[in-house]
Amino acid sequence: MRNTEEIWHLVDAKKDAFIELSDRVWGMPELLYTEFRSCAEHVDMLEKQGFRVTKEVAGIPTAIMGEAGDEGPVIAFLGEYDALPGLSQEAGVAEPRPVEAGGHGHGCGHNLLGAAALLAATALKDHLEKNGLKARVRYYGCPAEEGGAAKTFMVRAGAFKDVDAAITWHPFAWAGVQEADSLAMTRIDFSFTGRSSHAAAAPHLGRSALDAIELMNVGVNYMREHMPSDARIHYAYLNAGGIAPNVVQGEAKVRYAVRAHTLHEMFALIERVKKIAQGAALMTETSVDIKVLSATANLMGNGPLEQAMQNNFDRLGPVPFDDADREFARKIQATLTPQAISSNYNRSGFRPRTDEALCEGIQPPIAERTGTPMLGSTDVGDVSWVVPTVQASGATLAVGTPAHSWQWTAQGKMPAAHKGMVHVAKVMAGTAVDLIDQPEVLAAAKADLAARTAATPYVCPIPEDVAPPLKMAAGG
Ligand SMILES: [Zn+2]
Repeated sequence: MRNTEEIWHLVDAKKDAFIELSDRVWGMPELLYTEFRSCAEHVDMLEKQGFRVTKEVAGIPTAIMGEAGDEGPVIAFLGEYDALPGLSQEAGVAEPRPVEAGGHGHGCGHNLLGAAALLAATALKDHLEKNGLKARVRYYGCPAEEGGAAKTFMVRAGAFKDVDAAITWHPFAWAGVQEADSLAMTRIDFSFTGRSSHAAAAPHLGRSALDAIELMNVGVNYMREHMPSDARIHYAYLNAGGIAPNVVQGEAKVRYAVRAHTLHEMFALIERVKKIAQGAALMTETSVDIKVLSATANLMGNGPLEQAMQNNFDRLGPVPFDDADREFARKIQATLTPQAISSNYNRSGFRPRTDEALCEGIQPPIAERTGTPMLGSTDVGDVSWVVPTVQASGATLAVGTPAHSWQWTAQGKMPAAHKGMVHVAKVMAGTAVDLIDQPEVLAAAKADLAARTAATPYVCPIPEDVAPPLKMAAGG
């Protein structure tokens, strides 16, 4: 307990500067792979705190790594700082009011995510120095979580290969260890090429790329009956071949997102989708070019690390929200449907206590929870296949707040968000201290990961020849 209390004090001693960092990043929302100002803010802070900084990790201009310490186990904290399009919103108001119409906004709280992870790394650095401990601490500033899968590219480049444990978090309504439930996902573009011709004068000479996509979608929709029930497939037309119905569409392009419960189930499903695309090309006498854009693995849980983090949540207790925090959270809840709020409660593992607008406790251990976790995809998944990884859920906003919403942006620099961010930094830093104090837990975490991946080793879901989509935010 002595070390735990010390690390909490070290977090508190520096929290103000990191809250300001979070607020500054909130105020400069930048999309995937264009987080130049936000990344520079993180570099500044790393340098101020005495970390050795590596820039352009994996050749990505906005990916950074800060390190301190020379020998011993490597404990990494993962941070993010990318924002989302169209979610510009003033802070502290419970109605939609963009700062800039159509502008970007931190609708997923990554301003808090990066700042708290860096705060935890700094507190651990201070703790190691104060006690002369042999361990290395790293902070990875990871861009483009939203749609860019930067961490997957960083894993592919070997950026985490000597890391012993990785710790991260995400802002949500709940304080607790996050379940490792996410879907592996691949985004793939299918570009069909046929032959254009006048649809009335020479229809027999045309070969329609648009027809090919329609047939492909029909084929995939028939496949849905015969795929695992927790797999997901979505598609969107990127190019429907033009706006003239009297011209046979010579070119057309569709983007698919294929998700499955595990990496290897996803690989199998992708092969089936590709066969359907090739079948559609065969039927229409067109050709198809298939290109993976980005991909992420599913999250791998880690029993020993989850237990270590749970212990830290239990020691620390709930986030110290006050009545003003609760009042604003209730105003946000007034903009949500009762169903959104109650389904969020049901997922939390708490018994429904719908009178509470903020998380006033700590979620029970994962094994004791009921309800279905939310299914999404994250590039933390790839890190978790190669390094024992644990994620916290930090309580920073009102129960029921939908992800990627103006309500999320509006709460991103409120006192409740700051309290939740400092709270989770204490939990993450405390977990790291325990791993350094108890090498047997770190060894158990490694054995746990080895056992989980023994039968199905990690295969990077992004092909070797695919580079990070650095121009994606500009539509490239
Ligand atoms: Zn997020």
